[in-house]
Amino acid sequence: MSGPLSAADTRRNLVALSRADFDRELAPFIDRPYRLNQIYLALHRRGVESIDEITELSLRLRGELAQCFFIAAPRIAERRLSADGTCKYLLRLHDSATIEAVDIPSEERRTLCISSQAGCALACTFCVTGYWGAGRDLSAGEIVAQVRLINRESRSREPGSSQARTTRPFDDPSAAPNIVFMGMGEPLLNLEAVRESLDLLTQSTSWKRVTVSTVGIIPALEEMASWRRRPNLAISLHAPDDDRRNEIMPINQTYPLADLLACLRRYPLERGRKITIEYLLIRHFNDRLKDADQIARLLRGLRAKVNLIPINPDPVLGEQMVAPDEATVERFKNRLRQRGLFTTVRQRRGDEVQGACGQLRASGTKAHGVRARLRQGGDNG
Ligand code: SF4
Repeated sequence: MSGPLSAADTRRNLVALSRADFDRELAPFIDRPYRLNQIYLALHRRGVESIDEITELSLRLRGELAQCFFIAAPRIAERRLSADGTCKYLLRLHDSATIEAVDIPSEERRTLCISSQAGCALACTFCVTGYWGAGRDLSAGEIVAQVRLINRESRSREPGSSQARTTRPFDDPSAAPNIVFMGMGEPLLNLEAVRESLDLLTQSTSWKRVTVSTVGIIPALEEMASWRRRPNLAISLHAPDDDRRNEIMPINQTYPLADLLACLRRYPLERGRKITIEYLLIRHFNDRLKDADQIARLLRGLRAKVNLIPINPDPVLGEQMVAPDEATVERFKNRLRQRGLFTTVRQRRGDEVQGACGQLRASGTKAHGVRARLRQGGDNG
C-alpha cells in the first residue's frame, strides 16, 4: 500500500473515488480513454495495492499518477473467529473510519455480509450500528474490497494453503460466496456506490447470489426497479403495524408500511424470485400469534418469503431487546406457514464474536448517534 505520508499530503485515495470522480480526476493524466478502464479494473478486480503494480501503464505515467494519488484498500484491524466458523472482521479505512464484515461458512456456500456505510444515521432501536451513529458513505471500491479481502483471508486459512493473495474477488465462480449487503449502513442511502459495486461484483458472480437489504427507502427502491439487472431484495419489516414500526424504526415515519408495501407490489421480480421479508423477533413486542396473522395480511398478494430472526442481545440495546424462547419462535413460524407464507428461522451465528451488525466496532468507540444522546440524557437526568 502506498498511503498518505502525512496530514499535509493532499494525494487522493483511488480506491475511495466514485467512478465519476475517478474518470474526472484521472482524465488530465490519460492519453487514451481505454486506459481509464484499465486502471479501474486493475484497482477493483485485480486488487492492486500500489500504483507501481499497474504495469500496463508506462513508468512515466505511474510516476505522474503517484504524485497525485495513492491506493489504500481497507485493512484488518481485528478478526474474531467463532467456534461455528463464523469470522467477523473489523476493517479500518484509509481515513481511520471503521466498518465490519462477516464471513459465514456453510456446507453449501459461504455468505459474506458486507457494509455500505461506516455507521448509520437511521437510529433503529434494535441496531448497535444505529446506536453508534452516522458515518460516511463507502465508495464502490471500499465495498468490493471487503469481498476481496475476506475471500483472500478465508483461502489463506484453508488447510495446506500457501496462497497469500488472490488476484480477483473470486478465482473460481462456481465457489463464489453469497454476498449480502446487511452489514453497517443503509445501502439504499448510498445507492450510486452500491450500484457501481454490484456492477463490479457481478463480473465474477451471479446477480442471484447478491442480496441488498433495506429498511425500505421508497425513492431508491423505485430507482432500483428501473435497473436492467437487480440483486435479490430483502426488506427489514420487524413490526406488523405502523405504531410499533415507528417505535423501533424512525424511518417508518417517512415511509410508512402502506406506502412501502404498495411500492413492493410494483417492484419487478424475475421469474422464481421472491422478496425476503426480514422480521426480528423481540420478546413481548412483536412475537404474538396475532402479530403473525397481521404480517400475513400485510404480505397478501406479494411474492415474498419470511425470514425470522430472534434478536441478538447486546448491552447497548437495553433489557427489553431479548429474543423469545424457542417454543414461541416455533409457534410464530408455524402460524406464518399455516397462513401460506414460506418461512424460515435464521440460525444465530457467531454470538461469541459479537456477530450482529455494529457490535464489534462498538468496543472502545464513543457513541454519537441520536439514540446514544437520548440515552446519555436519560442516564444523567
Ligand atoms: S438496522 Fe440498518 S438502517 Fe437501521 S440503524 Fe442499523 S444499519 Fe441503519
